[in-house]
Amino acid sequence: MTRPGSFAVLALALALTLAHAAPAAPAAPATIAAAKPVATPLVSPISTLVADTIYRNGYIYTVDANDSVQQALAVRGGRIVYVGDDAGAARLQGRRTTVIDLGGKMLMPGLVDGHLHPQSGGSRLLNCSLDYLPLTVAQFQQRIQACLDSDVRLGKGDPQRWLVVVNWFQQGMLPDGVTTSAATLDALKTDRPILVRSSFGHSLQLNSKGIAVAGITVATPDPAGGKIARDAGGQATGLLEDAAQDLAMNLLPPLTVAENLAASAKALEAMRRQGITSFLDAYTDPETMTAFTTLQRQGKLTARAHFAVLIDLDKGNTPQRAVAELLKQKKQFDQGPTRVAPSLQVRHAKLFMDGVISAPAFTGAMLAPYWVNKGTEQQPDWQPGSSNGPATYFSQAALRSTLDVLARAGIDPHLHVDGDRAVREALDAVAWLRGTPAGKQVRPALAHDEIVDPADYPRFAQLDVTPVLSFQWAKPAPDTLGALKPYMGPQRYRLVQPQSALLDAGARIAYGSDWPVDPLDQWFALKVGVTRTAAPDAGAEYAGRLGDTPGLPRAAVLRAITLNAAYTLRQERLTGSLEAGKLADLIVLDRNFFTIPAEDIANIKVLQTVVGGKVVYQSPAMR
Ligand SMILES: [Zn+2]
Repeated sequence: MTRPGSFAVLALALALTLAHAAPAAPAAPATIAAAKPVATPLVSPISTLVADTIYRNGYIYTVDANDSVQQALAVRGGRIVYVGDDAGAARLQGRRTTVIDLGGKMLMPGLVDGHLHPQSGGSRLLNCSLDYLPLTVAQFQQRIQACLDSDVRLGKGDPQRWLVVVNWFQQGMLPDGVTTSAATLDALKTDRPILVRSSFGHSLQLNSKGIAVAGITVATPDPAGGKIARDAGGQATGLLEDAAQDLAMNLLPPLTVAENLAASAKALEAMRRQGITSFLDAYTDPETMTAFTTLQRQGKLTARAHFAVLIDLDKGNTPQRAVAELLKQKKQFDQGPTRVAPSLQVRHAKLFMDGVISAPAFTGAMLAPYWVNKGTEQQPDWQPGSSNGPATYFSQAALRSTLDVLARAGIDPHLHVDGDRAVREALDAVAWLRGTPAGKQVRPALAHDEIVDPADYPRFAQLDVTPVLSFQWAKPAPDTLGALKPYMGPQRYRLVQPQSALLDAGARIAYGSDWPVDPLDQWFALKVGVTRTAAPDAGAEYAGRLGDTPGLPRAAVLRAITLNAAYTLRQERLTGSLEAGKLADLIVLDRNFFTIPAEDIANIKVLQTVVGGKVVYQSPAMR
């Protein structure tokens, strides 16, 4: 424990400043100036020291500069006014103060998820789902048939109506290496078009009716940034990758206003149970932002919502036009600087540089070829093949001019980069951007980074680029073993999931779940970040650690999912750590993250989630 004195002094200074605040802002970072000055003129400074809520007798993990641990924390007006020992907090206690005795329990900053997809996550909770399970072809067929059958019972068996299936763990199909095609779905008893979406979000499978309805023929060209899988005769197999998915996705009726609202509400519910108090929607649309705006008006926005708008230069679009469209959406939905109550902010752009590195996509842009099996299944002979994956979806010139236009508009770029060539090209463009006048203030984030060339590790720190990582991917699993290991070759496979390598090279690593690529389970993800192991019940073939890269220190994973992710949202002066003057975004845990065995981190339950001083979730176990 560090000495609490300095916190108490700061809290006092803040409280006094607030008490006397006429138009003057509190002595705190400029962004805090949005605080409502205390309007009542005759309030004595003493009464402003009374806290609304005091948490005492706890293990308060602050994520401050020293990762200090404190005993007590006081909240007033949605902000933290004191962090220190119990005696100091007691001085802020008044008749109306709620005092919570933590009984030694751990309290920490609310989680900040730097990359997820709330709308697809929420709507998938309302859909026919394959639940991310590794399935045999027969099980895959049985589960989808069950959805079709129950739809018929519900009177939704219309032969024109799409059946949409979600959370398909495509890389996990059993046995390893088995693929699907339209024929897999044509075996089902239905006349309806079927669309099965991979949990990765980079591919979908259609049945023959779906291919016909989508109008895909031998003559249909691959769209920019996408691929139509074809058999030896050039016929589409129904598997559509990346941008090619739009050929079918665009035919689906858009979610209705009510469905959008239901999806956002489901997403927020899932988030507050996990302890997420701020998030970035890494690929938004106006309908999603409309839904969150509506929920906010209804008093149901329980997390600080940030949105990244897609920049797509397809069909001759220019960076200027794409950014102008983004700014139009910002004007409509952005609510200005962070304040006590959760709000919407639109200040990020999403750019896709490539797809995914694992089988069967191989759409990740790589510096070295994917390996291929030149032998047989019985006697494999893995050798480097001829493909390094596709050209990145932005040329270097297009990327530079896009980043420049964004920088001048004050928008931070959030780039999807999965393969090491995508990472390299993104870093090259940022290196160029840093030399431009507007480029110095930008906070670029590179999401995913599943394989990074060691020569590029130090460039993240040098260029001040934040890698946004999904820790739960760093474990033995179908997508990191069967669908990845042989195709990388042994040398390069050692580089996969370079989380601690980036940390050791000085990078500010941040966490992003990428939900619904996996189920939303932040505590499992943090566990994997530390252990690089799968769940104990994952099966013998997934036992042990992923590779020989060390896991991350516990303090590092917590910093990644709090303060560092807050930095990518330009919110680190207000959230991400527990310090006097910051917003009261905090969570109480049922066990101590630091003292339990690492495997047990996955079992942590959030007892209470607080956003801007308001309790938005409370488990019955929190008394
Ligand atoms: Zn994503």
